[in-house]
Amino acid sequence: MVTNYETKRRLENDIEFSSSQERFLKDELMNLQRELKKAQEEVKRIKSLPLMVGQFFEMVDENYAIVGTGQSSTHLVRVLSTVDRELLKPSCSVSLHRHSYALVGTLPPDVGSGVTVLRADEKPDVSYMDIGGMDGQKQEIREAVELPLIETGMYAQIGVDPPRGVLLHGPPGTGKTMLAKAVAHHTNAAFIRVNGSDFVQKYLGDGPRMVRDVFRLARESSPSIVFIDEIDSIATKRFDANTGGDREVQRILLELLNQMDGFDQTTNVKVIMATNRPDILDPALTRPGRLDRRIECPLPDRRQKRLIFQVCTSKMTLEPDVDLESFVTRPDKVSGADIQAICLEAGMRAVRGRRHRIAAGDFEDAYKEVMKKEDIVDTFRFYQ
Ligand code: ADP
Repeated sequence: MVTNYETKRRLENDIEFSSSQERFLKDELMNLQRELKKAQEEVKRIKSLPLMVGQFFEMVDENYAIVGTGQSSTHLVRVLSTVDRELLKPSCSVSLHRHSYALVGTLPPDVGSGVTVLRADEKPDVSYMDIGGMDGQKQEIREAVELPLIETGMYAQIGVDPPRGVLLHGPPGTGKTMLAKAVAHHTNAAFIRVNGSDFVQKYLGDGPRMVRDVFRLARESSPSIVFIDEIDSIATKRFDANTGGDREVQRILLELLNQMDGFDQTTNVKVIMATNRPDILDPALTRPGRLDRRIECPLPDRRQKRLIFQVCTSKMTLEPDVDLESFVTRPDKVSGADIQAICLEAGMRAVRGRRHRIAAGDFEDAYKEVMKKEDIVDTFRFYQ
């Protein structure tokens, strides 16, 4: 009897102890939750905009990293414990706290450098069908850029390295940009488009960084195509540079060469460059292994002109007596862009005259108008 009573007392004691423990733990939990909320609010406050954009270089230890902010200044900063360390890759863009420069978060790869990958719906809508003539050039660029991106295995099997880059050269308005756009349209590779002059930035040192950014982005979103238009603005032959600006341009070129050597054949990054002045390009850029293929886009001959006229007028309503052949056979030097301008001008004249079809006279006037402009340009060139 006594033992039963004692057991009961012991159990009651146990229960009391457990319930007090439970109460204690509940309090503890509530406290912790309150603290968590406070910490979360603190993180939110730290992360509140505006933050600074910097570049991550490397981790020093668990909690500290070296970052750069703009003008070649580097800082040793604290990394917030909430930042995923896996996402911190060398030279990625990061956000830093305004005052303490603490590393607060990472930014997507294409933010902060001014370079963007065109999204699928932003891709140019030029197809090979929209380019009149240029069959040889289309074939060459497909072999050099499109095939290696699609049939990666085939080149490996045959045992040749696919070309890395293509240089499109020829007079202005001969469809070089169009050709690059068409390649982007027909492959589902990421398309990065930059102009050579974009690299020449306000601050010294920003240009080479932007080159690195372009190629880093290309590698991260491979398979990809990098298209650099007007490459002559940065890739002119090197000479004794005296001014800081010239030296900066040379550094950009060196970085470009470096980056083109940097990716190995297995990375699916193709480079297309376009220029009107292949003669002034630095030979280092056009050596085999960098821009392997040179595709010339010359002024159209008679057959090409006919095809371009056909493409440009394919969506227009013409009077039956319009004879495009008479324009094709004229000996004037016209480029693809001129032909496009002639067709556009003829259309404008028909609209102005409130006619539903474009008459032969419209084309005649438009031809004269466009050719006259060409003459003016030539005269200016003469005076220069
Ligand atoms: P560039 O060689 O200077 O880069 P573009 O490719 O920008 O010249 O061409 C300028 C314009 O000329 C294009 O928008 C297009 O309308 C016209 N054009 C040039 N070549 C052709 C062509 N082969 N077929 C159809 N249009 C052309």
